[in-house]
Amino acid sequence: MSDGNMDVDESPVSWKVKSLEKLIDGSSFSSTLSRLSSSSRLIPTSRDFHFYYNFDEFKRPIDEITGTSQSTLATIGDSEQVWGKSMKFPGDVDDVYAEDWLCNVNDELIERFDVSVDEFQRIRKKEKEIGRSVVADDGDDGFQMVYGKKKKPVGNVVTGSAAVNGGGSVIDVKMAERDKNSSGKAKVPFHVPTIKKPQEEYNILVNNANLPFEHVWLERSEDDLRAMHPLEKFSVLDFVDKDVNEMEPVKPLPLEQTPFKFVQEVKDLKELVAKLRSVEEFAVDLEHNQYRSFQGLTCLMQISTRTEDYIVDTFKLRIHIGPYLREIFKDPKKKKVMHGADRDIIWLQRDFGIYVCNLFDTGQASRVLNLERNSLEFLLQHFCGVTANKEYQNADWRIRPLPEEMTRYAREDTHYLLYIYDLIKLELQRMAKDDAHTDSPLLEVYKRSYDVCTQLYEKELLTENSYLHVYGLQAAGFNAAQLAIVAGLCEWRDFIARAEDESTGYVLPNKVLLEIAKEMPDSVGKLRRMLKSKHPYIERNVDSVVSVIRQSMQHYAAFESAALSLKDVSPGNVRYLY
Ligand code: AMP
Ligand code: ZN
Ligand code: MN
Repeated sequence: MSDGNMDVDESPVSWKVKSLEKLIDGSSFSSTLSRLSSSSRLIPTSRDFHFYYNFDEFKRPIDEITGTSQSTLATIGDSEQVWGKSMKFPGDVDDVYAEDWLCNVNDELIERFDVSVDEFQRIRKKEKEIGRSVVADDGDDGFQMVYGKKKKPVGNVVTGSAAVNGGGSVIDVKMAERDKNSSGKAKVPFHVPTIKKPQEEYNILVNNANLPFEHVWLERSEDDLRAMHPLEKFSVLDFVDKDVNEMEPVKPLPLEQTPFKFVQEVKDLKELVAKLRSVEEFAVDLEHNQYRSFQGLTCLMQISTRTEDYIVDTFKLRIHIGPYLREIFKDPKKKKVMHGADRDIIWLQRDFGIYVCNLFDTGQASRVLNLERNSLEFLLQHFCGVTANKEYQNADWRIRPLPEEMTRYAREDTHYLLYIYDLIKLELQRMAKDDAHTDSPLLEVYKRSYDVCTQLYEKELLTENSYLHVYGLQAAGFNAAQLAIVAGLCEWRDFIARAEDESTGYVLPNKVLLEIAKEMPDSVGKLRRMLKSKHPYIERNVDSVVSVIRQSMQHYAAFESAALSLKDVSPGNVRYLY
C-alpha cells in the first residue's frame, strides 16, 4: 500500500494553494458551489432523465460531464499520499458504493479540517502565552502534517501476537478507547498483514486459470450457448407480496437480547439449515476481502431470521456452504432480504455455487422510494434510529477469531433488515396510493431485485489489451517503450497474482507500476532505489521484474501505434477501470 512518501518540492504550500485556486475558477468557493447546485437542479431526474437520455443533444454533454466527474473523483481517491490510506473511487458514478465513498471523503475532509483548526488554535494560544511565533518543526506541508501528528499508526490498533491455538495463529485485535481518533471513531485497518492467509490456513482451493468461470451448478439453455439462472423459470409477479395492507411491521429485539450463533461447525450449519427451512423470510449479508486474493474471498455470511442472528465462518465451512444452503437460497417461496446485493449475488455464485431466487433488495427499494440516501447506514438511522459504525465496512474481515466489535457490526448488517423490509413495503404501498399514475412501486423493486439476481459472475481475464485499462495510464502520456513496460509488468503481475492467489493491486499497485514504466529502471539497483516502500512480491522477484523491464524495452516497436492512439483520446473516450 501507500508508502506515504511525499515528493516535497520547494514550496508545497503555495503549490497546493494554486491548485485549489484552479479548482474554483477564481471566484469564491461558496459562490461556485451555489452555482453548481442551482444548475444541477435543472438536470431532469429518474424517468425524465432516461427519456431525455434517448436524445443525442442531451446524452453527449451528460456523458462528457460523467466522464470528467469520474476522472476528478478518481484522481481524488487516488491520492494515497493525501489520505494516508486507500480511498479508491469505486470507478463509476453509478456504482453502488459511489455515494458511500463520497460521504467518506467528505467526512475525512471535514474531520481533518476540524483537527487542523484545533491545532491552529492551540498554536495561537501558545504563541500568546510565550509572546513569540511557534513554527511547527515537522514540516511546511499544511493540514496534511498537522493531521498526521494526531493520527496513530495502524500498528497501535492491531497487536499481532502470534499465539498458537490449535495449530492456527491467533491475532489479537484491540479496538480500544485509546485508539479512537478525534471524531470518536475507532480506526480499523483494512489490511492486517500478520494474518495467515485463509487460503492456506483452511486449504481453500480456487481456480485462477486465465479461463472463463464455469457456472457448473446451472442448467444450460437448449442451444447450449449459455447458462440459465433458475429465476428464468419464474416471473417477477410470482414474488410480489399479496397482502401488504394487513401486515404489521415486526420490530426485532435489541441485539443483546437476540440469540446469536457463530456457525463454525457442520453441526451448527445443519441447525441453521433446519431453522431456515422453518421460516418464510430471512436477511443475508456477506463480508468480503479482495486485497489478498485474486478473485476475492467471502469472509463471513450473516443471516438473520425474525428471532435470531447467525454468522457463518465461510472460510472454515467453505466447501459445506453450497451443499447445505444452495436449495434454500434457490427456493422461490423463501424471501431473501438483502441490502445493495449486487456484489453479494456474484460472490455467492463464485464461492459457493449459490444462485438466489426471490430477493427483496432494500437498496433498490430505497431508490424507488426516492429516499435522501440509499446506504444501509441511512436506512438504519431513518427506520430504526440506529447509528451504525460504518468504520468496519472496509475492515480486514479475514481476521479470526472475530473480535467482539466486528461481530457486533456484522450482526447489525442483517439484524434490522427484515424490519426495514416491513416498513419499506408499507411506504411503497403508500406511494402507490398517492400517485395512481406510477406502476406499482413494489413491483418495480422486485423487477430490480430480479435483475440483480440474474447477473452472472465473470472471472477477470488477461488479454493482450488488458494493460490499456490500467488506471491512470490514459493520463500518463507514455511513449512506446514505457507502454511496453506497462504491458510486460501487467502480464507479470497477473501471472504472480493468479499463481499466489493475490490481487494484482497487492502484487504491484497501478500507481507503482506506472512509476516503474515512467522511470524505466533497467537494473536491480535502480529498481530498488526507486521503490521506497515494501512490495513483497517485487522484492522476492526483483530479478525477473528487471528482466521483464529490459525485455519489454527491446520490444517497444510493437507499441508505437498504441502510444500514438493513446495520446489521441478525447475525454469522452477515456475508460475508467481499476
Ligand atoms: P457491505 O455490503 O456493506 O456489508 O460490504 C460488503 C463488503 O464490501 C465489505 O466486507 C467490504 O469488503 C466491501 N466494501 C463495502 N463497502 C466498501 C467501501 N466503501 N470500500 C471498499 N470496500 C467496501
Ligand atoms: Zn453487503
Ligand atoms: Mn456487511
